[in-house]
Amino acid sequence: MAWGGGFGHGGGVFGSHSSTSSGLPFGGIPSELMDEATKLLATEPAHEPSHLHFSPVASAAERRPLSLWRLVGAHRGYLVAASLLVIISSVVLQAGPKLTEFAVNHGMLPGHHSLKVIVVCSLIYLAITLASVLLQRLQTDVTGVLASRVMRDLRVRVFTHFQRLSLSFFTEEKAGVLMSRMTSDVENLQQLVQDGVAQFALQGLTMIVITAVLFSTNVVLASWTVLLVVPALVTLSIWFHQASERGYLTSRDRIANVLADLSETLYGVRVITAHNRQRRNIVNHRHVVGAYRDANLYTGRVAAIYGPSTNMIGIVGQGVLLGIGGRMVLEHRLSVGALIAFFLYLNRFFQPIQLLVQQYNSLQQGRSSITRLRELLSEEPDVAESPTARVLAPIEGRITFENVGFGYDPAHQVLAGVNLEIAPGESVAFVGPTGAGKSTLAKLANRFYDPTTGRVLIDGVDLRDVTLSSLRRQIGVVPQEPFLFAGTIRSNVRFGRPDASDDDVAEALAVVGLADLVARLPEGVDTPVHERGQTLSAGERQLLALARAFLARPRVLILDEATSSLDLASETVVERALDAVLEGRSAILIAHRLTTAQRADRIVVVEHGRVSDVGTPAQLLSRPGSYRDMYDAWLAAGGRDVVV
Ligand code: ADP
Repeated sequence: MAWGGGFGHGGGVFGSHSSTSSGLPFGGIPSELMDEATKLLATEPAHEPSHLHFSPVASAAERRPLSLWRLVGAHRGYLVAASLLVIISSVVLQAGPKLTEFAVNHGMLPGHHSLKVIVVCSLIYLAITLASVLLQRLQTDVTGVLASRVMRDLRVRVFTHFQRLSLSFFTEEKAGVLMSRMTSDVENLQQLVQDGVAQFALQGLTMIVITAVLFSTNVVLASWTVLLVVPALVTLSIWFHQASERGYLTSRDRIANVLADLSETLYGVRVITAHNRQRRNIVNHRHVVGAYRDANLYTGRVAAIYGPSTNMIGIVGQGVLLGIGGRMVLEHRLSVGALIAFFLYLNRFFQPIQLLVQQYNSLQQGRSSITRLRELLSEEPDVAESPTARVLAPIEGRITFENVGFGYDPAHQVLAGVNLEIAPGESVAFVGPTGAGKSTLAKLANRFYDPTTGRVLIDGVDLRDVTLSSLRRQIGVVPQEPFLFAGTIRSNVRFGRPDASDDDVAEALAVVGLADLVARLPEGVDTPVHERGQTLSAGERQLLALARAFLARPRVLILDEATSSLDLASETVVERALDAVLEGRSAILIAHRLTTAQRADRIVVVEHGRVSDVGTPAQLLSRPGSYRDMYDAWLAAGGRDVVV
């Protein structure tokens, strides 16, 4: 059987445990490591099954706008502990120079010689240093735990939000943006919570503590310090901040270009090779990489100016203060110890300013990330469950379109004035040219979208009046390109009914005609599959999707037929499976092949967003119209090639 070949190609996954003999790449755990691996697995913590309740409607707490304080505030204990530790560290860290002042004034100056004072001071100094190291360790620990919890909350919250949003939100081009929200924006925040906020607070407090200490030591000298050092430092820091921000933005744009070029080359490698574009591509890549290098050079240069310049301000400041302070010592307006302490504090005065400026960037980034995430979280689902929605009782499967009009974009009507009734157990094929609105009509039937005008009813109930979960439980969908989730064949078949027994899975596989194939696989239904692993052929994926739909036993099935032409053998198998799955169910088939349409109970011809004709296949063929034209074209082409 030709279409069975797909399983054979997939050595990467299926061959992982048995491939040594067949010479395929080995992807599993080597046998000599198996013992160790088993031991390791035994020490893994057991993960309790989570009892999570998901509601399609966000709770009041989840509706509150996102803010850093709310996120952090949810872990109050850690927040208080971290704040206390930051406050204590900022004070304790500044005790050193004061001790030095005391040791000089009371242990070293003529007339005050005292080894005892010196020894005690140095012992206290050591003890305080030790204590501050421990405090910092504790503080890093606490903020680390706080950050990881906050990030977990945030990730789960955004993910839950994604699960609530309507289909209209998820478009191809948005997937990339959403991924970047979940990766770079969340990581920016992680940086900020883990390190940034605590550093910001610590350095800010340190500056305040040092300024207070300077003024309490000597007001005149402290005023000179502030006057000499602070304006120069602040000006330089503001320049640095602006320049580095510019550099950061440029380098971010340029690294994005590098990555875009890289990914295009990797994805388009076949076309590139076929058209001999390698050299041109390298030239182009050198170009974008060079632009990125320039941006990095600029940022490096800015930092190279800022660091040494602040040092210079410090040195000049010290020089001037040496003169002013020295004179004050001679005039007995300042003690020698206090002058030394001043110098020591002055050195420490610069570090917080430099760090604050550096942290300011990450604070800004964090803030814009929060804003972007807040916007994302405030996105409302278009298809919202009404608060008064009730559970849809088991249905017979009558679907009614009542004067339905719809447009993805309100300005552009895709469907207009559609009236159609599908009886319980009836299979209806939608046919018509591409873009006519067949898929859109099908999407309205299980409320992926709401009609702009008119109503869609199921067993006489407006879809908007029932809960989404009770509706979708009774309507199965087989998309044009079935999606396989990472897992096994079993877990993929059980997707819509995770509690289904193994017998049910076996039955579903048998009904669609996959049983023999699965039985031939070394691991049977436990054979791993995943979306990217090209382990299943197109036909097999279709069958698996049908088995999935069969197992969920919906009353209504919506099936978007695959357009990729299957070979004759696969087509026959898929058609047979389809008959078995559709048995006794209402069905909407978006038919791309006339053979499928011919097997339906009724055919609905959709043209330009309207139902232009409805009838049994025989009726439609017996009268002139677009369906007969299509059919004639199909026959003329040999009865196989026309795919609509
Ligand atoms: P068919 O299934 O008959 O090929 P569709 O129902 O997919 O047609 O599309 C009908 C029209 O709606 C087309 O003009 C198409 O471009 C547009 N359309 C389909 N999906 C979307 C979407 N997600 N957003 C905007 N327009 C869409």
